[in-house]
Amino acid sequence: MTDIARASSLLTIDVDAVVANWRRVANLIAPAEAAAVVKADCYGLGVAQIAPVLSAAGCRSFFVATLDEGIQLRRILPGGVIYVLGGPVGGGEADFAAHGLIPVLNSLAQITGWATFAKAGSAAPAAALHLDTGMNRLGLEEAELERLAARPDVLASVRPILVMSHLACADDDTSPKNMEQLATFRRLSGQLPAMPRSLSASGGIFLGRDFRFDMARPGAALYGLNPIPGRPNPMAQVVRLQGKILQVRDVDSPMTVGYGASHRVVRRGKIATVAVGYADGWFRSLGNRGHGVIGGFKVPLVGRVSMDLTTFDVTDVPAPLIHPGALIDLIGPDITVDEVAAEAGTIGYEVLTALGRRHHRRWLTRTTEGKPA
Ligand SMILES: *Cc1c(COP(=O)(O)O)cnc(C)c1O
Repeated sequence: MTDIARASSLLTIDVDAVVANWRRVANLIAPAEAAAVVKADCYGLGVAQIAPVLSAAGCRSFFVATLDEGIQLRRILPGGVIYVLGGPVGGGEADFAAHGLIPVLNSLAQITGWATFAKAGSAAPAAALHLDTGMNRLGLEEAELERLAARPDVLASVRPILVMSHLACADDDTSPKNMEQLATFRRLSGQLPAMPRSLSASGGIFLGRDFRFDMARPGAALYGLNPIPGRPNPMAQVVRLQGKILQVRDVDSPMTVGYGASHRVVRRGKIATVAVGYADGWFRSLGNRGHGVIGGFKVPLVGRVSMDLTTFDVTDVPAPLIHPGALIDLIGPDITVDEVAAEAGTIGYEVLTALGRRHHRRWLTRTTEGKPA
């Protein structure tokens, strides 16, 4: 039996679509540089499979969140420029240097720590500086920046090659916070020696030219999430998740379906039981709210999502399409990650990063496309 025939669910990741999305951003913002944010295993989609293809397509700079992710990515990309957003904590400087990772320094303490380390003679890589412009999460506050600007010796030891900040409301182009943060970023970065600047992630890129500076840091848009909610998604869909039907049952009123008897059957019909549950990252909050798609037919998710199983009302789907072994799209051409997220009461980022380890995963590139996996 092939892996795919044996699998209860199939997760297909279109790596070429990720590359197409990166190119689209790169063309849009040129001559600014398009980096790629590949933290959290490329938002759950597989950094080992995706990062090398992005690199081959011309992407030079990569961002991860943690030192461990940086060390893992260094093995995958021996020559890539790798930034670590969290920076060194509790004396990790030597590990950054050993793996050639560029720390994003988020506080005066991290900066002085890095300066001391660099001065001690070790061949420290360059570093990036993070300014807080209104997120109040990470980054130097204005008072810290003033103290730093008064210490050219510290700056010289640190050798910053990028100054960055992060937008709080970039997914809402009506928010006044965007222009406030833009003005703050200009003013604060102006207190430092001239160096490349970066403000925008996926959303900020689409707020306009002023937000692009020298480099943008898209993540979500590369993986197909809509960077401009409420308007048509300019990005290509990357993910397809298909769940296998295990059983089809005839039901009639007054039966109920699933735990808690939360779905009451009101007419004669059919229920398909699919082998995907919350242990697979198929959110429990989708109970009685989500849907799937089979053969172009939208099928409501009825009853609760349990650990391994989900039930759909397939009464209105032609019978030949509905049988054990048939696949229902949970994410696919007719149901986007953003739609699933809205039905689950969350955001596409969480849907992607929650995708479970039990799905049979396959990665499509030009070289694998069309070949049986
Ligand atoms: C995660 C992250 C990004 C990427 O954000 P997206 O919205 O996924 O494009 C960029 N910059 C920073 C600082 C981040 O933490």
